[in-house]
Amino acid sequence: MRPLSELRGFTPALCSQLAKLGIHSPQALLLHLPLRYLDETQITPIRDLRLGEQAQIEGVVVHHEVSYKPRKMLNVRVQDASGIINLRFLHFYPSQIAAMQTGTRLRVFGEVRPGFFGYEMVHPQQRKVTEDTPVNTALTPVYPTTAGLSQNNIRKAVNLVLTPDHLQETLPGWVYASLQLPDFASSLRLLHQPDPDVALPALEDRSHPAWQRLAYDELLAQQLSMRQHYARRKQARAPATPPSQALAARLLGNLPFALTAAQQKVVAEISHDLQQPHPMQRLLLGDVGSGKTIVACLAALQMIEHGWQVAMMAPTEILAEQHYKKLSGWLQPLGIDIAWLTGGQNKKERRQSLSRIASGEAMLAVGTHALFQEEVVFHKLGLAVVDEQHRFGVEQRLALRKKGQLTSLEPHQLMMSATPIPRTLSMSYYADLDVSVIDELPPGRTPVATKLVADDRREEILERVRDACAQGHQAYWVCPLIEESETLQLQTANDTYAYMQAAFPELQVGLVHGRMKAAEKQAVMQAFAANDIQLLVATTVIEVGVDVPNASLMVIEHAERMGLSQLHQLRGRVGRGAAKSTCILLYSKQQCSQLGRARLKVIYESSDGFQIAQADLHIRGPGELLGTRQSGVPMLKIADLERDSALLLQAKQVADQLLRREPAAIKAHLQRWLSQGEEWMKV
Ligand code: ADP
Ligand code: MG
Repeated sequence: MRPLSELRGFTPALCSQLAKLGIHSPQALLLHLPLRYLDETQITPIRDLRLGEQAQIEGVVVHHEVSYKPRKMLNVRVQDASGIINLRFLHFYPSQIAAMQTGTRLRVFGEVRPGFFGYEMVHPQQRKVTEDTPVNTALTPVYPTTAGLSQNNIRKAVNLVLTPDHLQETLPGWVYASLQLPDFASSLRLLHQPDPDVALPALEDRSHPAWQRLAYDELLAQQLSMRQHYARRKQARAPATPPSQALAARLLGNLPFALTAAQQKVVAEISHDLQQPHPMQRLLLGDVGSGKTIVACLAALQMIEHGWQVAMMAPTEILAEQHYKKLSGWLQPLGIDIAWLTGGQNKKERRQSLSRIASGEAMLAVGTHALFQEEVVFHKLGLAVVDEQHRFGVEQRLALRKKGQLTSLEPHQLMMSATPIPRTLSMSYYADLDVSVIDELPPGRTPVATKLVADDRREEILERVRDACAQGHQAYWVCPLIEESETLQLQTANDTYAYMQAAFPELQVGLVHGRMKAAEKQAVMQAFAANDIQLLVATTVIEVGVDVPNASLMVIEHAERMGLSQLHQLRGRVGRGAAKSTCILLYSKQQCSQLGRARLKVIYESSDGFQIAQADLHIRGPGELLGTRQSGVPMLKIADLERDSALLLQAKQVADQLLRREPAAIKAHLQRWLSQGEEWMKV
């Protein structure tokens, strides 16, 4: 495709300004769509103006004055047959003063506001006209822009590329016919130059069929791109491994519980994938406490039984440690050797772990991102499990996939997340993965009662902690999140710890925070798990995965500052045993923002992770929710997953059909939508 710089009318200056907006090609310029529209097709008599409205007027300058008090200001009064309005400019050039001299006929567009002399417009757009200057026949688009590039110049540039050779259909007619969407060329023409009779509200809220067509195109391109990646990855080779004959049965026989139906279903899905000669790319979603670890463990056994090593990675040392313990408890009785690898470990231990991994003596390696490092060499890696995958970047997971080994085969990958991903997100940004969902919790869990309490009732809450611990239960006290300062965060944690020690002389109080050494953290967590500590003061480091069933009370300070998924994860630390559990969300009446209030309402009303995630998507938008996945993944620019969810469903189906029968169309379509050299997924 020709770059813009080769087209007529695109000067180097214009091209470099467009480049600042990420626009290099005619296609990208065409898809740079207006933010909103101005209706300059009408001229409103000044008498008919209404406060707060945007309107266009035309009249003659009858008064013109630059004043200096209270500050420098240009006031221009314009009169038409029906009345007078004041225009006020706080920043202006000498050329503007000259262009608005008394007697000049001006056409002015702006918002009507109350002023000193009746109505006024502040910094309106204005231009000199004659009595026969025609009014615009199209609505005026307003584009996202950058300093130095005027709306007029963008509009002109867009007009230069709004030509048939750039507006060809990329996809066969049947794709759009059934949806009754307009064709590409007329959709783009309409969005860039809408007729005055097009309903402005439908343009602004993007429900107009022309917008829908483009949203659909974009979603389809995303689907095609992600599915292509998926297909490409499926061409790589991985160890096809039959189900476990012996080990899985022995493990299940030793367990004090039976798998839930949901666990059995996902175990079967994963087992099926591992039998294929292509790398599995599966995301296992399950709410906190749904029992993902045992599922991963069964997957590991299938590989281990046939001589393949497994790596299991967790985002924090606490969590990795906990996995290590749990898996050791399950697997050591089966004679499986497990290596442990984290950043916090001493040199000697580390060397030993590395050598056992390299020799293949250790069939399972559990650790933090230390497992990604170059010096870690596996003998025969067959499966990589990534827990809390949203905490890891795309590059890190890629590193594991390429982890050096002696065969030319790639390991299978199982990613797990307790941050449920709303369906629309998993269908779009995760379309390059297969998704399994554990949609039921193990039996016997009592739901956690959630209470919202203003923090002026702290004393009362301290009494509850005392009571709970007196009855043999344990409690978490989560310190407020202080994002701006790690030092302050640390200090708050230490202060809270000292306070609790003084308040509860009869209890053992412990403290964990992110700055502690790994060994210290482990020691505290072990003591808490063994009930040697009854009250654990913690920062949000305990947010993921920590499992102490006897803890039945959690107090979260300044809950209004925390995100929804964070609160949900924290709350998931209790309600893991038989006792009735409570989560108390302390909030500050003074500091609770609108947003904080909205979040607390959601978390109070729902304990369903998927519902919470859906609400989170609504409140924050997909960018935040995608977290690290977002880096390197372009966001949808036109489509909105909530508004356009019906289109997304269609796009998904059509993408599959196209992939089977229309390779040429796919190429053209992706070229248009990925014309900035972007891809939806780099893995
Ligand atoms: P998560 O999905 O949050 O990682 P875990 O794997 O940590 O959950 O499991 C939570 C707890 O539930 C663990 O103590 C685990 O041993 C237990 N568990 C898992 N599956 C079952 C089951 N089917 N029945 C009873 N308890 C189970
Ligand atoms: Mg877990």
